[in-house]
Amino acid sequence: MENQQPKISIVIPVFNEAANLGELLVRCVKTCDGMERAYEIILVDDGSSDGSRDIIEAASDQYPGVIIGVLLNRNYGQHSAIMAGFAQTRGEIIVTLDADLQNPPEEIPKLVNKADEGFDVVGSVRVPRQDTLFRRVGSRMVNKVVQMSTGVAMQDYGCMLRAYRRHIVTAMMQCSERSTFIPVLANTFARRTTEIEVAHAQRTAGDSKYSVWKLINLQFDLLTGMTTFPLRILNVLGCIVSLFGVGFGLFLFIMRLIYGAEWAASGVFTLFAILFIFIGAQFLAMGLLGEYIGRIYSDVRARPRYFIEKIVGKSQLTGKQGTDDGRHQRHRSSTGF
Ligand code: UDP
Ligand code: MG
Repeated sequence: MENQQPKISIVIPVFNEAANLGELLVRCVKTCDGMERAYEIILVDDGSSDGSRDIIEAASDQYPGVIIGVLLNRNYGQHSAIMAGFAQTRGEIIVTLDADLQNPPEEIPKLVNKADEGFDVVGSVRVPRQDTLFRRVGSRMVNKVVQMSTGVAMQDYGCMLRAYRRHIVTAMMQCSERSTFIPVLANTFARRTTEIEVAHAQRTAGDSKYSVWKLINLQFDLLTGMTTFPLRILNVLGCIVSLFGVGFGLFLFIMRLIYGAEWAASGVFTLFAILFIFIGAQFLAMGLLGEYIGRIYSDVRARPRYFIEKIVGKSQLTGKQGTDDGRHQRHRSSTGF
């Protein structure tokens, strides 16, 4: 298939998914062939330590120009890996999906059709969702918060099976922050968005690559990356807590006037309780400030988001340059590493 100007680019981050890659590629290629338009599949190896790298290299040898491997030199996280993939895309419509087959590749044409209708971002809702209760409840809460603060009503920000139009991806690549959450970032640039229902499968091989700790980190990336709204909530919360404190103080004062000093003395512990409320609020505030400052710190350092070790499988015309392209993508100060 000629791939001078692929119309559809599929970006798949891969981290230790050797057990899934074979089936994934077969199903992806089959689905894409069925669409009868030019396509490319970009597999980004996010520093896997199992056989994933070799599989990607072999696949790109087998289908040069169609399957392109972007091999990062270590693990940078799913969203950075996708960004590395974006930088290599040449399609007009870019689709992302997970490598673990939880997002069935057969759903790609549905997304592409929607994008063809002119939507900038096509999101997807997983029905029925095949994850643990803990993940489902957590994800529902996060979706609610994101909806409230971005004003873009999408039901499911967590599902990575999504389609973006070229200009959205270009805009995202111009963002230099290191902590990104792609579906939310995309919506900040999108005018027309929509969501469709897609199937969701259970993970058949391997474990989720997200530990509870990594998930927490991702949620904070999402929150702080998207808005400074929590800081404002903190102000409001601070005011309410203070007013409550003042009110309570007044109440104690009045009660003391009515019932005398004895009553007030037994209120010592109530004062302790109030104190704890304040201390709690302060800690919360400091913690949140810390989250922002931490991110400001890492953005100020302006480290490259990723390093590409090599790119395999780019079509002959650009084959040799492929690696250089990757290098040029690096941000400034790359020599310090
Ligand atoms: N992934 C990645 N780097 C990471 C963690 C995950 O590239 O550090 C990839 C992983 O290979 C998969 C996708 O991101 O293709 C989603 O990961 P996973 O299925 O573990 O997440 P979950 O479905 O549990 O949210
Ligand atoms: Mg998964």
